[in-house]
Amino acid sequence: MQDLEQFRLDVRQWLEDNCPESQRQPITPEEQYFGGRNATFPSEDARIWFERFRDKGWVCPEWPTEYGGGGLSPQQGKVIKEEMKAIRARTPLYGIGIWMLGPALLEFGNEAQKQQHIRDIIDGKVRWAQGYSEPGSGSDLASLQCKAEDMGDHFLVNGSKIWTTAADKCDWIFCLVRTDPDAKKQEGISFLLIDMDDPGITTTPIELISGESEFCQTFFDNVRVPKENLVGELNAGWSVAKALLVHERKLMSEIGSDSPREVVVPNQAARQYLEFEDGKIADAELRSRLVDYDMEMHAVGLTHFRTFEEKVAGVRSAAPLVMKYVGTEAEKQKSELLLAIMGSQGLGWEGEGFNRAEIDTLRLWAMSYAMTIAGGTSEVQLNVIAKNVLELPQG
Ligand SMILES: Cc1cc2nc3c(=O)[nH]c(=O)nc-3n(C[C@H](O)[C@H](O)[C@H](O)COP(=O)(O)OP(=O)(O)OC[C@H]3O[C@@H](n4cnc5c(N)ncnc54)[C@H](O)[C@@H]3O)c2cc1C
Repeated sequence: MQDLEQFRLDVRQWLEDNCPESQRQPITPEEQYFGGRNATFPSEDARIWFERFRDKGWVCPEWPTEYGGGGLSPQQGKVIKEEMKAIRARTPLYGIGIWMLGPALLEFGNEAQKQQHIRDIIDGKVRWAQGYSEPGSGSDLASLQCKAEDMGDHFLVNGSKIWTTAADKCDWIFCLVRTDPDAKKQEGISFLLIDMDDPGITTTPIELISGESEFCQTFFDNVRVPKENLVGELNAGWSVAKALLVHERKLMSEIGSDSPREVVVPNQAARQYLEFEDGKIADAELRSRLVDYDMEMHAVGLTHFRTFEEKVAGVRSAAPLVMKYVGTEAEKQKSELLLAIMGSQGLGWEGEGFNRAEIDTLRLWAMSYAMTIAGGTSEVQLNVIAKNVLELPQG
């Protein structure tokens, strides 16, 4: 405990000495740095901050040192996060490689794969895309059809993936592919790492209602993938896929507490936008919603804390499974409440008359719905909880 307190003081001092002033404030989505072969830093300070952070070993503080990680304990990793949050230090590097692929590769990858990919993820040299969903396979992911035929010295991949976030900006993609069409659906799937520069891969952005285009459909037309890019055993990719999803869902369960944007808190917004009578919010319905929300968030915070303590103690728990559903639904509830509090000021997608926080609130509201879909929809999460946690009879 003493050591952890000393560690906290050291972290605080290091951040004070090394985090540029400009990197201690919320960022716009455009300023988030995802790395990659063709990436440029949004500013010189962002570059300096990333390089210092990387050299300190804190991009992935808990990953093993032999691959470029910090070799720290989960408690130390948590302290770094807390101290960064306290001074509003920006996360210097984001990415699916850090959140999802890295942890899965550390568990299932062979030595050569770890050597080839882990350090590049930490150094921000390679940006990864996730190739899971297909036009006919989302919630029922195991029905996927994108196929990889064994051609002796390589796999030949044909098919397409959809909703591949930022695939047009990514360098590599990890994909679930069908390698045995005759096996039971989960048993005929393999997990492949594919270089997006390989001939036969094309990406088509999917335009969203916002006019922005975050997603792509990614097509594979006779793409030759070296055999050494298979992670885990042939036809055993479903286990890798599920383990990776656990990391994705953990990330999403914490989405509200780790937003890079200027986040408006309902209580704060209430003081700014609502009328008060005798020291209380005049609108009784909104007052009651705020209290509900506060209690809910307190419970979510305590459960996150419990989940962390259970992880450190090596206790198996159902909480991580439940928290993707709870965390993303709470975020949706918060956004709904904020818009109700802001009234007509919460209706600005862009343009005059709305400040940045108001515009971001509306955009985060739209995003909060997307988060209840990505990584497994809320309905499907409830099915999983019913089956695996509550062990309810299946209909
Ligand atoms: C922001 C965002 C980012 C994403 N990024 C990626 C990415 O990078 N890579 C990737 O591969 N995919 C990505 N996805 C896709 C995501 O994984 C799928 O959208 C999700 O798994 C749902 O699949 P679907 O869209 O095909 O919906 P469907 O499976 O068609 O579901 C439609 C509706 O039916 C409901 N439903 C389906 N089955 C059941 C059931 N058994 N019981 C009850 N209700 C059911 C669902 O809850 C949903 O409401 C992303 C999605 C979003 C929103």
